[in-house]
Amino acid sequence: PVILAIESSCDETSASVIKDGKVLSNIIATQAVHEQYGGVVPELASRAHQQNIIPVVSQALLTANVTKSELSAVAFTRGPGLLGALLIGCSFAKSFALGLGIPIIEVNHMQAHILAHFIEDPKPEFPFLCLTVSGGHTQIVLVKSPLDMEVIGQTTDDAVGEAFDKTAKMLGLPYPGGPMLDKAAALGNPKAFAFPVGNMPGYDYSFSGIKTSVLYFLQKQVKENPAFVQENINDICASVQFTLIKTLLKKLVQASKDLNINQIAIAGGVSANSGLRHTLQEYAKKYNWQVYIPAFQYCTDNAAMIAMAAHFQFLEGDFATQYVSPEPRMKI
Ligand code: ATP
Ligand code: MG
Ligand code: FE
Repeated sequence: PVILAIESSCDETSASVIKDGKVLSNIIATQAVHEQYGGVVPELASRAHQQNIIPVVSQALLTANVTKSELSAVAFTRGPGLLGALLIGCSFAKSFALGLGIPIIEVNHMQAHILAHFIEDPKPEFPFLCLTVSGGHTQIVLVKSPLDMEVIGQTTDDAVGEAFDKTAKMLGLPYPGGPMLDKAAALGNPKAFAFPVGNMPGYDYSFSGIKTSVLYFLQKQVKENPAFVQENINDICASVQFTLIKTLLKKLVQASKDLNINQIAIAGGVSANSGLRHTLQEYAKKYNWQVYIPAFQYCTDNAAMIAMAAHFQFLEGDFATQYVSPEPRMKI
C-alpha cells in the first residue's frame, strides 16, 4: 500500500508518504509564530495548520515521487492533541480521501511515537518496554505487538517535557526550552545542586514538584547573589536534567526487572535529549539491556511515524469512516 499521512496535533504541520512500509518522504513545517509567546497558542496553531497543510502535503507527494492517484489510503492523527489543530488534519484527510475514493485511517499520536521505531533498523523485538516522553505525556508502555500496547505507568500530573520547558523558562532560556536546557546541561556539573522529586507508587511519575523546588531554590539564591542564575546556568541545567533522567529511568529499571523484559526503547520529543540518550546507553551495559533510540527526526512530532502506524493498521484492515472526528484526549 501507498499511504499519505498527516500530523497536526500540536505546532508541527507534517505530511509523509509511505510505500509498503518504507518511508519515502517526511515534510515538517514547524510553526515559528509561538516563539514570541513562549508556548503554543492553540488558536494560532490551528490557523498555521490551515496555511501549511496544502504546501506540506504537495511537497510530501513530490519528494516521494508519488501522484495522488497512486495512493491507497489517507491517514491522520486523531488524537491526543489540541482540538483545533487536530481538526485541520482530520478534515483535510477526510475530504482528500473522499475526493480520491480511498479509505481513511485514524492514528493515535502516542502509539505512533512508539511505532517510529519501525521506520529504520534496528527494530525492537516484541514484547518491549517503551518509555514515551514528550511535551504532553510520560508513560511506560508494554508493547506486545505493533497495535497491542498497554500503559503500565504514567505521570499523575505534569509531563517530563513540561518540566524541561517550564524550568528552562524560569531560567530565562528561550522557547522551546527543552533543547536549550539540554545544550546548557552538556557544559555543566550534574551533581552541583540537588533537587527533590516526588515518588509515586508503582511505575507512576510526578513532575509538578520539581518546578516548585527549582523556583524556591532560585528565589533563595538570587536574594543572596542577583547574578546567581547567569553565573551557574550550566550547572543548574545539568542538575535539573540529571534529576529528571534519574527519576525516569528508576521506574523503567523496576518495570524491566518485574516483567523480565530487556528490550528497551524510548520515544517522544524528550527522547531527543542527549543526557537521556547517553544515560540509556550506560544502563544498557549495566542491566544487559538491548536499547533502541530513535533517530532525531523521528523523536519530535513528524508524519513519518503516523505513516508507519497507518501502514500496520492498513494491513489489519483498520479503517475509519467519514463520521470520524478528532479525540483530543485519545488514549492508547
Ligand atoms: P505529545 O506527544 O505528548 O502530544 P508534543 O507532541 O507536544 O506532546 P513532542 O513534539 O513529542 O511533544 O515533544 C516536544 C517536547 O520535547 C517538548 O517538551 C520539548 O521541550 C521536548 N524536547 C525536545 N528536544 C528536547 C531535548 N533535547 N531535551 C529535552 N527535551 C526536549
Ligand atoms: Mg512541537
Ligand atoms: Fe508528540
